[in-house]
Amino acid sequence: SLILFWHRRDLRLTDNVGLAAARQQSSKIVGVFCLDENLLTKDDVAPARVTYMIGCLQQLQQSYQQAGSQLLIIKGKPTQTIPQLAETLQAKTVFWNWDVEPYAKARDQKVKAALTEKGIEVSSLWDQLLHAPGEILTKSSQQPYTVYTPFWKNWIEQKKQNAITKLNQFENLTDEEFNQAQQSGVINLPTAKDLGYIWDNPLILAPGETAAKERLVEFCSRAINEYDEQRNYPAVDGTSQLSAALKFGAIGIRTVWEASTEAHENCRSDETRDNIRSWQQELAWREFYQHCMYFFPELEQGAYRREFKDFPWENNEDYFQAWCEGKTGYPIVDAAMRQLNEIGWMHNRCRMIVASFLTKDLIINWQWGEKYFMQKLFDGDLSANNGGWQWSASSGMDPKPLRIFNPASQAQKYDPEGEYIRQWLPELSSVDNEYLVTGKISKSERERCDYPQPIVDHKIQQRKFKELYQSQK
Ligand code: FAD
Repeated sequence: SLILFWHRRDLRLTDNVGLAAARQQSSKIVGVFCLDENLLTKDDVAPARVTYMIGCLQQLQQSYQQAGSQLLIIKGKPTQTIPQLAETLQAKTVFWNWDVEPYAKARDQKVKAALTEKGIEVSSLWDQLLHAPGEILTKSSQQPYTVYTPFWKNWIEQKKQNAITKLNQFENLTDEEFNQAQQSGVINLPTAKDLGYIWDNPLILAPGETAAKERLVEFCSRAINEYDEQRNYPAVDGTSQLSAALKFGAIGIRTVWEASTEAHENCRSDETRDNIRSWQQELAWREFYQHCMYFFPELEQGAYRREFKDFPWENNEDYFQAWCEGKTGYPIVDAAMRQLNEIGWMHNRCRMIVASFLTKDLIINWQWGEKYFMQKLFDGDLSANNGGWQWSASSGMDPKPLRIFNPASQAQKYDPEGEYIRQWLPELSSVDNEYLVTGKISKSERERCDYPQPIVDHKIQQRKFKELYQSQK
């Protein structure tokens, strides 16, 4: 009997929990991916992300062919198209892996109801996390955590599932079944351009499982060993850059975890082990934010903390425009925003710097920044992005009351030679390092370089923000 496997954020055949379970039931499996109209027409879609996703789908189609089956592409509303296709193919069961996002949860319930009505079974499993929501709860009262550190302590203690290494081989559809599928809305895989998204710059990670696995191996043999020391320097290639692969499931999280534990077991010094632990903590941040989104879906709509529910943001549109374009006159902020605009990715240290700057210096609602990030990031992900923005705005689940980054001190500490700033702001390449990293570039020098004057004064804005914050407490 035929199984339809609906791929969403698991664009691979290997180390896929749902697919492995499906394969145990039948060898006749056909994959499907629905280009979801509801998602593709939203106003926060990044061309770089669509380009990466389409590349992953291209590779997934090839993997299916090599495994003896195929990945069908459909377009429209999944609540209609998935049940329709399943019925046409006379599928016995439709399998998929769960997601934490509010939209996905509601959509899946609707698809499930429509399939059940047609007498088609549904089977869903957790795949994208090492620990599903509900597995990591407070020990005292079995509640979801709202603070990261105790979450991490509990999370790291729990046994993790092994990577599923068995390769899948499938039986293909008959010609008749394939023809029927064709009549049920199956299309050729479009390009990102066909979908209206143009991205001509190279991506920092090539799409698909092969590139993600290669990157993982390379990272675990090199930079992971110095992660804690190097991860804060945006000019250094010290992080994995696997975020988009994790977002779209181009690589399985169990595979990633195993590679890191292997590195952890094989390293010779305690110092190296600590570095690897730090990286594993980042994987736990990813899971923490996904659990938060699952249990507190209201996070998607706005601030978690009361003081920020009706915060009197100033929301100056000109400032926002300058921030988006990397023209605030603060070199580290502008370099970071140019990196985002040019490659669709930004170093984590800089994400924190620009987010603090938007909220605490420009006094602009963090949700504007959250949306702009989604419009640009190739790894844009609701849970991580919302978590990162609420952390930076101090509106979220972070016990520290107020974080304000000083852009100049950040640059001095983390880009001491101004390498990163020069890379993304070539117009400042001739400016003396001392002025570049402190941002104390003279008015005339800025004019000479055709670089803007600072749009605000950090000290004044910081004071103003604190006053506004006090007024809300
Ligand atoms: P590495 O340092 O190699 O980390 C390994 C993996 O852990 C990452 O690939 C990612 O999956 C996860 N991770 C690392 N840090 C975090 C974190 N703070 N929160 C959640 N997961 C984390 N990450 C996204 O994946 N998508 C986003 O849309 C996103 N938006 C962010 C917005 C802001 C304002 C901030 C401060 C952070 C955001 N992050 C986001 C988290 C982090 O910046 C990126 O995951 C990281 O920079 C990706 O680079 P990397 O793969 O080299 O990370």
